[in-house]
Amino acid sequence: MGILDRAVSRAVNRAVDKTVDRAISNAVEQKVAPHINQAANQTAGALVKAGTQQAASLGSFCTNCGRQNNAGAKFCGGCGAKLPTAIAE
Ligand SMILES: [Zn+2]
Repeated sequence: MGILDRAVSRAVNRAVDKTVDRAISNAVEQKVAPHINQAANQTAGALVKAGTQQAASLGSFCTNCGRQNNAGAKFCGGCGAKLPTAIAE
């Protein structure tokens, strides 16, 4: 093995390593990313659903001052602002 041979094999190894690394990370990204997105969407959907249910059971939060009011209240007990009616009557 001469110096040239060693240099060539080192260069080849480096090129192969880089290509393999890129191929693996591309494959992982393509395989994993959709699952991560799906899981994130499902989690976000569940959180929104849980939050909506909790808000409905807790009552209305005043959009003006942020005070939590009794469910069904039409006006804020803190500032008197009209509350958004979440539950249709
Ligand atoms: Zn208020």
